[in-house]
Amino acid sequence: MKPAPFVYHAPKTIDDAVAMLAELGPRDGRVLAGGQSLVPMMAFRMARPAHLIDINSVAGLDRLAVEAGVLSIAACVRHAAFHRPVVAGPTGALLSGVARHIAHYPIRVRGTFCGSLAHADPASEWCLTAVTLGAQVVAASLRGRRTIAADDYFEGMMATALADDELLLETRVPMLAPDTRFGFYEFSRRAGDYAIAMALATFRLRDGVIVEPRVGVGGAEGRPRRIAAAEAVLAGAKPDVASFRAAAEAAADAVDPLEDVHSDAEFRLDLVRAVTRRALERALA
Ligand SMILES: Cc1cc2nc3c(=O)[nH]c(=O)nc-3n(C[C@H](O)[C@H](O)[C@H](O)COP(=O)(O)OP(=O)(O)OC[C@H]3O[C@@H](n4cnc5c(N)ncnc54)[C@H](O)[C@@H]3O)c2cc1C
Repeated sequence: MKPAPFVYHAPKTIDDAVAMLAELGPRDGRVLAGGQSLVPMMAFRMARPAHLIDINSVAGLDRLAVEAGVLSIAACVRHAAFHRPVVAGPTGALLSGVARHIAHYPIRVRGTFCGSLAHADPASEWCLTAVTLGAQVVAASLRGRRTIAADDYFEGMMATALADDELLLETRVPMLAPDTRFGFYEFSRRAGDYAIAMALATFRLRDGVIVEPRVGVGGAEGRPRRIAAAEAVLAGAKPDVASFRAAAEAAADAVDPLEDVHSDAEFRLDLVRAVTRRALERALA
């Protein structure tokens, strides 16, 4: 099938893109970034935008920079930019390790970090990363710019706090302390497929016990989220088999699993338990 007819727009500046979105967003205009989710949906006519606002020629949207302990990822930074660590230390290593799990190489060359957050698939690796690391999303419109915490940004299955006329300008990821340990584990049927369940864990060690634990789970519910109960189990505990198993159990207890063609609820809960434990083990390895 071919896409339904649409009008193509190619702004060159952020101001022009935002002005176009103000006019066309409420009239079924959509931003085109990497096109790796939107274009297939258009080809299947699951999406029929009347206008496409292609942001790939907008100056400055390929910016990737560290400022004051925050990694800023602008709207057109591709998944592939993270194949190699973009910064020294655990933040660069974590992003690089996670990027390899996103789809396949040709898709990673075009698809964008911020496009993944705008699309908000619950099984998106970047959405889980943003929530777990406490990222912030910067949205721009004619009304100005606003910053939204990732926790508040994801509202449900492919639903976000972005309004029709807002451009997701950049995502700001706080840099991890140099001694932060991290582990990511994803289960999918085949390499490159979306995750059926995945977990990202970070923590530091002080005097042999865990401090500042973060445990995020994705793919299992309508949106990725941190699991407070699992973090509470880990805080102050020794990093051993017993505490990791207890945290994994707490994660499985906290999740209300999706049921779909890929998995029933019971299997997904087993996976949540397994991916959480394995992410924690990888953090210690
Ligand atoms: C076969 C296949 C396998 C895939 N597997 C995975 C996977 O395992 N994990 C994964 O995370 N993804 C996967 N993807 C999706 C891929 O990562 C996409 O790149 C990503 O979901 C969207 O990014 P994009 O830049 O391509 O956005 P687009 O497709 O251009 O846009 C997606 C949506 O976001 C909106 N949008 C994009 N950018 C902005 C912005 N800056 N501001 C406002 N709205 C915006 C668009 O209007 C559209 O509604 C897969 C895709 C394919 C085709």
